[in-house]
Amino acid sequence: MLRNLCDAHVHTIFSRHAYSTIEEDVRAAARVGLELIGISDHYSPMIASDVRPLEYQHFFNLGIVPRRWMGVHVLRSAEADIIDLKGHLFGHEMTFSPRKTGDVWRIPRSLEEQALLHSDYVIASVHGRDFTKHATSAQITAMYVGALEHEKVLMLGHLGRTGLSYEVAPIIRACAETHKLIEINEHSFHFGAPGSERLLATKSRCRELAEACAEAGVSVAVNTDAHISCEVGQVPNALALLEGIDFPQELIATTDAESFLAAVERGVGPVGDLRG
Ligand SMILES: [Zn+2]
Ligand SMILES: [Zn+2]
Repeated sequence: MLRNLCDAHVHTIFSRHAYSTIEEDVRAAARVGLELIGISDHYSPMIASDVRPLEYQHFFNLGIVPRRWMGVHVLRSAEADIIDLKGHLFGHEMTFSPRKTGDVWRIPRSLEEQALLHSDYVIASVHGRDFTKHATSAQITAMYVGALEHEKVLMLGHLGRTGLSYEVAPIIRACAETHKLIEINEHSFHFGAPGSERLLATKSRCRELAEACAEAGVSVAVNTDAHISCEVGQVPNALALLEGIDFPQELIATTDAESFLAAVERGVGPVGDLRG
């Protein structure tokens, strides 16, 4: 049986279409015996009809979230949208002078820099896919490799269910070079009826990614992508898939708190009080 005592991708009410608070997610993590969770709300155009700093202020104060809560390590994160074929993240070129209080940014920062300032790590995912409409597989591959170059990006989110065409090998190679992770996302197995083409395609993509990781010595993060607290820590389909291919435990970065904290330090760099 593979062990997985971290859940590095959970959402809260700040994601707008999720239903639990940070405290409820932490309590759920403690209840099911997790050692660590990562609060990773959507940092994405999808959460606001009008892109203004005000709409993203919940990220600006993430530094107050306790490092340990109910005995669980709590990491600060964000699931950032990849918004172009270069792999840039949402808000990278957006600068605003007036703050919500009316005065000006003391340090001129883009919305992206300000929103991700307190994140220990970032999950880069594709949600809105319009910009990929005419893209080739090589371009999508380059987009993911580009996203991995971002200093705070630790993992690519739900790569197995994007529906985009990309080449696995160059992405895994980039992960190996940058010490970054591929996510095996439990939520991906909730899309499509059992036996449906969609679900089979997701499973086969996830298996292909996991096999490539095992071969290259790249670690995976096994996460729920929970949008409600009762889902926190529940990853039966993801673990069954990995067990089915004899995936090595030592390449699961979410095995326990120590392995995930080490993975953050390797992929993103030292984070001041990470171990709290
Ligand atoms: Zn979501
Ligand atoms: Zn998510």
